[in-house]
Amino acid sequence: MEEEKRYCLNCHRPVTGRSDKKFCSDSCRTTYNNRLYSRQRNALNRIDRILKKNHAIIDRLYSRGEREIEFTELFGMGFNFYYITSLRENPDTGSSFILGCYDYSYIIDRNGKVIIGKKRFTQL
Ligand SMILES: [Zn+2]
Repeated sequence: MEEEKRYCLNCHRPVTGRSDKKFCSDSCRTTYNNRLYSRQRNALNRIDRILKKNHAIIDRLYSRGEREIEFTELFGMGFNFYYITSLRENPDTGSSFILGCYDYSYIIDRNGKVIIGKKRFTQL
């Protein structure tokens, strides 16, 4: 049976040797892995920045005593609703969720209002 031709994951040149070998050289393996880890790190950093921006927005509102804001207004301030740090069922209603942004929590009510609260330390 003829062995299937394999190609280096980095430079795409044919790979010879052990059947589980994926790279033609150590340098190609290192280059490939560095690029892979760099992409993963960048993706995580991007999400971290979004969450920190969300936190800064919510922290500014909360510090000013603002506990309710229109969903659209919060969105307009650059708050990204796509990322949260926690999620739990709302015990008061049992049908909605309490979303988390680090030490803050918020719910979005039926009228499109976002109600902001601060988590108690025991919930962290
Ligand atoms: Zn290579």
